[in-house]
Amino acid sequence: HVKKSNDYSYHSYSSSNGFSSFTSHFLEEEMRAAIAREEFELHYQPKVGTTGKLLGGEALIRWNHPKFGRVSPGEFIPFAEENHLINEIGDWVIQTVCRQLGEWRDKGFALYPISINISPMRFMKKGLVELIEKNLDTFQIPAELIVLEITESTLLKNEKVVIKTLEKLGKLGIKIAIDDFGTGYASLTYLKEFQADILKIDQSFIRNLGNNRQKDNAIVSSICHMGKALGMTVVAEGVEEQEQLELLAEFFCDEIQGYLFSKPLPAAGFEKVLGDGRLQSGK
Ligand code: C2E
Ligand code: MG
Ligand code: MG
Ligand code: MG
Repeated sequence: HVKKSNDYSYHSYSSSNGFSSFTSHFLEEEMRAAIAREEFELHYQPKVGTTGKLLGGEALIRWNHPKFGRVSPGEFIPFAEENHLINEIGDWVIQTVCRQLGEWRDKGFALYPISINISPMRFMKKGLVELIEKNLDTFQIPAELIVLEITESTLLKNEKVVIKTLEKLGKLGIKIAIDDFGTGYASLTYLKEFQADILKIDQSFIRNLGNNRQKDNAIVSSICHMGKALGMTVVAEGVEEQEQLELLAEFFCDEIQGYLFSKPLPAAGFEKVLGDGRLQSGK
């Protein structure tokens, strides 16, 4: 049947009916309004060393819609990329992280680098570096506290603008992480040609670590080894089990991110972690 925009009554959001059951026009308008209505929120997931020492965090966007409830970024980010609203949302994320870091500093917390996910489209658009510089300046944040997570698909664009932007960011002192490493189509050539500082091993490899998973063990230990040989910091994401942590420690993986230590936390929760400087493993 026909969906009317601005009529929530027949279509309460649930992940089973899916975000896509709304008309794209309706969703676009809702997303546009969401920034003004302050429905977006950032959560922060801690990254720790294998012994639980806090090393940083990743900013992950949440959309708290008054009627749909919590919409996951996996559902609305791809759509936002289609309708180009990702640029506006991305700019909001950069500003919010810088403002948040300033707030934590003003409260007297020791600061740790925060990673920001940058979609391929936003990365290619002009003005990214300038926008980041402006926000660093406004909130008086050192560039070393910002990490940009890009995916292999951004590198695949293989355009001059990508190389130029990476160079400018490097000069500023902003670190680059390759997110979801191993799932895209990027060849090892990209690791040689692009200046990236951090490799994040995709969760799909981490999930299968352990006994009788010889292939995944071999892949993860090899990525750890290769990343370190290239002078990169290696991060494992999606770590949920103690056994996975033990293997990653054996592989000398630098940083651990996953539910075993902590889910993504609202700013107030992450603030507690900042105060403690460490986390315990265990669910
Ligand atoms: P990602 O950047 O690879 O982020 C990691 C995702 O894994 C997050 O999902 C996080 O909550 C989840 N995760 C972390 N540890 C575990 C674990 O132990 N087990 C499981 N099952 N999951 C874990 P989330 O927050 O739903 O974000 C999904 C994706 O949406 C992100 O993947 C990223 O690609 C995108 N995203 C999130 N926030 C932003 C943003 O601000 N801008 C852009 N452009 N994309 C974003
Ligand atoms: Mg990420
Ligand atoms: Mg990832
Ligand atoms: Mg991902």
